[in-house]
This record gives sequence, structure tokens and C-alpha cells, in this order.
Amino acid sequence: QPQLSTTVTETTPTTRIEEIKSVKSQRVATHSHIKGLGLLENGTASNIADGLVGQCKAREAAGIVTELIKSKKMAGKALLLAGPPGTGKTALALAISQELGTKVPFCPMVGSEVYSSEVKKTEILMENFRRSIGLRVKEIKEVYEGEVTEITPEETDNPLGGYGKTIAHVVIGLKTTKGTKQLKLDPTIYESIQKEKITVGDVIYIEANSGSVKRVGRSDFYATEHDLEAEEYVPLPKGEVFKKKDIIQDVTLHDLDLANAKPQGGQDIMSMMGQMMKPKKTEITEKLRLEINKIVNRYIEQGVAELVPGVLFIDEVHMLDIECFSYLNRALESTLAPIVVFATNRGNCVIKGTDNDIQSPHGIPVDLLDRLMIIRTLPYNYNEIVQILTIRASIENHKIDDEALMYLAEIGNTASLRYAIQLLTPASILSKTYSRPSITKEDIEEVTSLFNDAKTSAKLLEQNKSKYLY
Ligand code: ATP
Repeated sequence: QPQLSTTVTETTPTTRIEEIKSVKSQRVATHSHIKGLGLLENGTASNIADGLVGQCKAREAAGIVTELIKSKKMAGKALLLAGPPGTGKTALALAISQELGTKVPFCPMVGSEVYSSEVKKTEILMENFRRSIGLRVKEIKEVYEGEVTEITPEETDNPLGGYGKTIAHVVIGLKTTKGTKQLKLDPTIYESIQKEKITVGDVIYIEANSGSVKRVGRSDFYATEHDLEAEEYVPLPKGEVFKKKDIIQDVTLHDLDLANAKPQGGQDIMSMMGQMMKPKKTEITEKLRLEINKIVNRYIEQGVAELVPGVLFIDEVHMLDIECFSYLNRALESTLAPIVVFATNRGNCVIKGTDNDIQSPHGIPVDLLDRLMIIRTLPYNYNEIVQILTIRASIENHKIDDEALMYLAEIGNTASLRYAIQLLTPASILSKTYSRPSITKEDIEEVTSLFNDAKTSAKLLEQNKSKYLY
């Protein structure tokens, strides 16, 4: 039987979950300038708005899709963005998720990610599905709120027999409306107190049940879970709750899976060693997911939680194979399905995994194609590239002079937009080494001589064929 916590909040953010979130967020960082679709009230796109430049038709179409999603008319359907590399497909998908609301999960993945020697393809798809489904848990909690009067970590000898001391517990003084209390808390809370730089004088609250500590007025602070009711610590007196607080937590189904999954293996020494080497390896079984779904559905029925379907963005959809497609066909029908946005820069190609190498538009089987709404993205013109580069330079805090900007935009026009964007950071590093106040054309010339774009690289390979191994 899978071990399930009794309440969802008990299982919410642990350090482990935060780490996992950050891997995905790196991919989104290249789109940090995008804040939405930039549409006017009447649904038309203004040329530059919300960080998006041009691509007006696609943005307007994406706006209509957003409306369909909001009015729950996209069930069983999905979106396909088709267009050349670097034409903003990922950017558009992210913008859609932002239009759907703040805290709507956006989970980007690449088709080829499903191929792994360790994990089944459908398992990887399922995991990403669950990363894209958010759950907003509303709870009225009993909390102790007060001003910190004391933080005293109390040390003890290192229990492992090594040198040095370790923290046994931490004493926190809390001045509340009913006087000052001294609480002897689990040492794990000390780490979060340090991380959040909580000091004497700060107003914090401690949840009476799960024991996480939060600074009042800051929602991004989660303490590591620990049990305040544990024998060796002072239990929070039940009858003396000082305040009731509305606490809203945003988690994804995948967060819940992870938090409830047990590490693989047994208790013997070898499997414990294995766990130390792979601390993040946990086993999330189908059974566990079903259990979690059940609990989640119950919370939804009770009005404690609200489902927040996010956007699952699958780039390079032609890399998926027939097995993945039939899985997706089914998964799209589920009540717990996110909005799936596929992207491709391919035309007709083989559907991977088919016996006779069946060809299909974008390498997608026709039955799935039939469910898709397709939006085309078009290459940018020179002026649009100038605008996008200007936005990127400012968001990355690079100063660039006009001549350099024009030159870089030309490169973007002939090579690719992404290549031009990628040159910004190395060019800025160069200009700093030369102590120049801003990026100049010379800096750009120098970095282009150092880094090839994909087209040039392909051309060079072709010209120097004989020098490479084949
Ligand atoms: P690929 O097919 O190679 O995955 P893509 O179509 O998904 O490419 P993006 O990754 O969205 O392209 O775009 C490349 C870069 O250009 C990103 O940093 C993106 O944020 C930016 N960008 C693309 N289109 C726009 C736009 N219309 N306005 C502002 N920035 C854009």
C-alpha cells in the first residue's frame, strides 16, 4: 500500500520539489521577457506588447484558443504550432499559459526526451502531463502569529562521532497577543530560518499542524516539513491558537506524486547505498497516482482544492513515435488533462515507429492531426528582429550600441534569430574585457568568428568533407 499523507498540504513543498522545478525553469528563462499574448480588448494584436513582437496572426489565433480553453471547449483537442525554428513557438505557448492566469503551470519538453534506456516512454509523458496540472489548495489554518524575540540554535556533539557540533533544536521566542512563548523546534526549521534570513523583529507565522514557518506577507517561504508534535519538541498548545489564516498553496500533481513516493529499494545496506547515490530516484507507481487522483478528486468535490490545468508544451513533436501518439490520444480525453501544445518545424515526414515508415504531415498520425488546431508561425523581418533583440538585450542587462544592434539583426536575418540572441551574452563578456561601456560591432564580429551558426557550420562540413571521419 502506498503511504499517503492525510492532507495535501502536509506533502507540499519540500526542498526536493523546489530543485526539480528549477530544472524546467531554466528552459523558460530564455523567454523571461514574455508576459502574455499582447492582445487588445477586441482580440487584435498590437505589434509590440507583453514582450511579444510581430507574429500578429499567430498571436490572434492563440488568443482565440485561449478563449476556447477558458470556456472549456478544448477538451480532447490540442494545439499545434507549425513554423521554422526560432519563430516563437515556445514563446507563444508560454504566452498562452500566462493568459490563462498567474500560477498556471507551464511545462516545456522536447519530443526526444521520451527516449531513455531506464524509463518507459509513456512514463515520461505521464510525468510531464502531471507536471502540467496544477492544484490550488485553499485551507483555513490555525496559525501562531507573532514577532520573533529570540532565535537560539542549541548545539550538541556530532552524533556521527565526527568533529564539530550539530544543531539539536532551535528555540524561537514568539511574542503574540497572548504574551511571549518559547518554542523548542526541530533543527530543520533552523535551515529555513537562515535561508529566509528571518531575524528578531520579523513577524512570522507557524502553522499549528504541519509546523512550517512563514514570514507574514511573504508567500514564497516554505520551511522544511517537520513534526512539531514530536515528543522531544514542545507541542504547540492546541487550545491557544491565535489566528486563522487563509492559506493558498499551488502544487502540481507531479509534486504530490513525488512527495508521496517512497525511495526505491529496501532497508538492506546495499539499497541504502544506492539511495545515497541517487537521492532523487523515487518510485512513482501507477497505483500511487491513482490513489493521489482519488484524494485530489475528493478535495475538489469538497471545494478545498481547485484544479488549474496548465500548458504542456511538446517541441519537436515529430520525434515522438506511434506508441507515444496512441498514448497521447487517450490521455487527452482524461478529465485530468492539461492543455497540450505541440510544435514542429517539419513538413511531411515519417511517423516514427510505424512498420512501413508511413509518411504524414509533421510526422503526426492523421487521427491525432484531426484533433489539432494548427497555427502557423512565420519568419521575422529585419525590423522585428531588431525589436526582439532590443527587448532581450534590456532584459539581460546588456548595453548595445545602435551599429552593433543593426549588425546583429542582420545576422539574425541571415542565420537565425536564436543564433543572434545567443551571441548577446558572449559579446557582452567581450566588451567588458575591453572595458567598453556597451557592446560594439567589433565585439559582435569577434564572437561570430568564434561561434558558428548552424547554417555556416553545415556549409563548412560540406566543403571540408574529406577532412572528417565518416
Ligand atoms: P524551435 O522550433 O527551434 O523550438 P521556436 O519557434 O520555439 O524554435 P522560440 O524558442 O520561441 O522559437 O524563440 C527563440 C527566441 O526568440 C526565444 O528567446 C523567444 O523568447 C524569442 N522570440 C521568438 N519570437 C518572439 C516574438 N515574437 N517576440 C519576442 N520574442 C520572441
